[in-house]
Amino acid sequence: MISENINIVRDKINSRCLSSGRKPGEIRLIAVSKYTGIGSICQALESGITDLGENKAQELGEKVPLIDKNVHWHFLGHLQTNKVKYVVPVAFLIHSVDSIRLAGEINRQALKLGKVQKILLEVKTSEEATKYGVSSSEDLLGLASFCREAPGLSLQGLMTMAPYTDEEQLIRKCFSELRNLKVMLNERGFNLSELSMGMTHDYEIAIEEGATMLRIGTAIFGERDYSKSWREQ
Ligand SMILES: *Cc1c(COP(=O)(O)O)cnc(C)c1O
Repeated sequence: MISENINIVRDKINSRCLSSGRKPGEIRLIAVSKYTGIGSICQALESGITDLGENKAQELGEKVPLIDKNVHWHFLGHLQTNKVKYVVPVAFLIHSVDSIRLAGEINRQALKLGKVQKILLEVKTSEEATKYGVSSSEDLLGLASFCREAPGLSLQGLMTMAPYTDEEQLIRKCFSELRNLKVMLNERGFNLSELSMGMTHDYEIAIEEGATMLRIGTAIFGERDYSKSWREQ
């Protein structure tokens, strides 16, 4: 089931890349495994998944020691500063940095470990989609400038969530705004390469708008049951 789902997703990525003049190799597929049990995660890894995404510090911390394969763990959710110390030791990339306070704490924990933590800045490109994220280009520039000076941080790009809607133009507007913000920052001397955008509902649009990282949960693992913990799934 999961391996079939992954094949379907990969086929769709390939054909959308083909129709929009992009290369599938430019796109990293992150299987979002929140609320998903270890058995399903292992099936995904056996089907060639190399990147997993989690959105809670505790769940991430519990799962990492149970997976013996070499996995890139992505942290996607809202991160409280008091949880940073649990995430930095295991995270390949933190997608959801949205304040100087949080960036400062990630920098501090990374330096303690002698690590340079790769991060993305989360941008709020719509009112509905999320409570979190930087919502003005001035704030984004300020935060990016802070990160550039922090020796424990390596700023790689931007992340956003589009609203859950069938209005394609609304979704497209969020993604193209993120792409434009990356251009704006790179014109100011940053060297950002990554755009983390696109989920189960909208990843094909995200590919057309330049996504380099897709965060896909439901299309790979099926509907999540929020009434149960990951251990019961
Ligand atoms: C849950 C989640 C996803 C994946 O959502 P699906 O709709 O299941 O693909 C992607 N990004 C973030 C930040 C998430 O929390």
